[in-house]
Amino acid sequence: MKKLVCAGEILVEIMAERIGQSFLAPGPLIGPFPSGAPAIFIDQAARLGQPAGLIAAVGDDDFGHLNIERLRADGADISAIKVHRGAATGTAFVTYETDGSRHFVYNIKQSAAGLIEIGVEARALLAGADHFHVMGTSLFSPEVIEVARIGIETVKARGGTVSFDPNIRKEMLDLPGLRDALHFVLSKTDVFLPSGPELFIFAGATDEESAVREMLDRGISAVVIKKGAQGAVHYDKTGRTASPGFVVDEIDPTGAGDCFAAAFVSFWLRGEVPEKALRIANGCGALAVTRKGPMEGIASLAAVEAFLATARTGTPA
Ligand code: ATP
Ligand code: MG
Repeated sequence: MKKLVCAGEILVEIMAERIGQSFLAPGPLIGPFPSGAPAIFIDQAARLGQPAGLIAAVGDDDFGHLNIERLRADGADISAIKVHRGAATGTAFVTYETDGSRHFVYNIKQSAAGLIEIGVEARALLAGADHFHVMGTSLFSPEVIEVARIGIETVKARGGTVSFDPNIRKEMLDLPGLRDALHFVLSKTDVFLPSGPELFIFAGATDEESAVREMLDRGISAVVIKKGAQGAVHYDKTGRTASPGFVVDEIDPTGAGDCFAAAFVSFWLRGEVPEKALRIANGCGALAVTRKGPMEGIASLAAVEAFLATARTGTPA
């Protein structure tokens, strides 16, 4: 089976217990939960039985070990996660606003996550990789952009493929080197996985079909647009495939996009038709939101299949 690699931040997430709670005053918190978009992605892929490894850096502290042990237990290759003495593992504190939006206090760049590099272990992992996944959130400094560039170039030189989840907030676009990095990544991308408005960051067009056409004309093979509870839509040169989401109680939306992407890419690498890959990915995304904590809803292939056997579909996109 093809091996998938991703590089980027490992974090713990600590969340406010109550909706509408503010960090401008003391209040009850819950966590630490293992997190970081690349870690969520790799953990979900591993749980689906895909060989998957992560290039990352943590501190020699409980937050770092919590993450490493979760990834190890779920079958991920942790050989290229470097443990730094004297640096602290990255953190994200999150509150949920009453309108459903999220507010974060991050410590990523100044944490161990900022020390990510391509060392001997990362080179060894990439030497056995068939696919590299890029997360927009991970391109937060010139050093990590360089890690992504090496990952992409190494895997492409081996005849492998690249997927890209832009996952960026507009405020991030002004970070030094980010726009150039995004255009470089896009020029190497085989599978592009934006959610909603992220499709239009790279397109001139303002309607979905035309924006997708622009992306396909750049040489991207597949564009998969994530649409939350409505599921997802897949486009390639042969046409459009929409796949509905599944009805669940949304407890915590964080991580759904990463679980969805991991499942879609894993089944795309197995050569499955879009209908099948989308169905499994929508199943993983739906299960992801049913638990508090970004990695707590990650399901094994058997668990997703059991869920899909009885799940009710919602309104299609
Ligand atoms: P993230 O917040 O992790 O960045 P995203 O914006 O990238 O998420 P979404 O479109 O919110 O991605 O979610 C990804 C997938 O997860 C959806 O395509 C869908 O399959 C599933 N999903 C998300 N929210 C729900 C929900 N409320 N009910 C059912 N499925 C959901
Ligand atoms: Mg996203």
